[in-house]
Amino acid sequence: MLLEVKGLRAGYGQTHVLHGLDFVVEDGGVTALLGANGAGKTTTLRAICAMIRTEGEITLNGERIDGRATEDIVRRGLAHVPDGRGTFMELSVEENFRLGAYTRRDREVQADFERMFGMFPRLKQRWKQQAGTLSGGEQQMLAIARALLLRPKLLLLDEPSFGLAPLIVQEIFGIMRRIRDEGGVGILLVEQNANLALELADRAYLLETGRIVVSGPAAEIRQDESIRRSYLGY
Ligand code: ATP
Repeated sequence: MLLEVKGLRAGYGQTHVLHGLDFVVEDGGVTALLGANGAGKTTTLRAICAMIRTEGEITLNGERIDGRATEDIVRRGLAHVPDGRGTFMELSVEENFRLGAYTRRDREVQADFERMFGMFPRLKQRWKQQAGTLSGGEQQMLAIARALLLRPKLLLLDEPSFGLAPLIVQEIFGIMRRIRDEGGVGILLVEQNANLALELADRAYLLETGRIVVSGPAAEIRQDESIRRSYLGY
């Protein structure tokens, strides 16, 4: 198992948001974390990368990461693309790429840049352009490319389709599918677009007010009309 989470609790100040989550992410697969606004999806991703105070056991690739600092967790193979994307808006695409690879000492960085150009040809066209002037979809692509340049084992993606036009959403999902198919990286995907997420994912968890209320193979959840009606709203 790539990521194993047991009894995860987290919150902000006196407010408890997550009330003991248990879930797993398999190697090389896509796991979707779904739920309504405020259910605690973003908080779960923040808890995994130690951005907020948490309790519980988090194991990445066989090593406990709870209690470790964020940089340490990133070094152990975790990359987080936060909501709002987290690119450096005032820097160019090239500079964002170089920052993405700054922890790397190996000589394969240039080869990885080329791999990213294959996956995101638009970013190559925008190489010298300031990130803040890119379209929303291109900014999302840049955020994902930057995260991949860390060569993570696990990628946490927080609503990559948020605020994007339907065609661009399809493009972003196509990119996630390609990352999955190329293998070697597990994805934990937080999404509002439950239908698309369930189509892509292998497994899914449904969160409601900080608790997992449904879990199972994505294909089964997708076909379960009562779950769809009760929790997914379609
Ligand atoms: P959304 O899709 O709206 O982001 P979500 O499922 O990701 O929903 P969270 O953002 O994790 O939900 O929020 C869960 C709860 O935590 C909400 O009640 C929210 O108000 C609260 N919360 C989120 N961020 C903070 C914060 N920085 N300080 C205090 N409370 C917060």
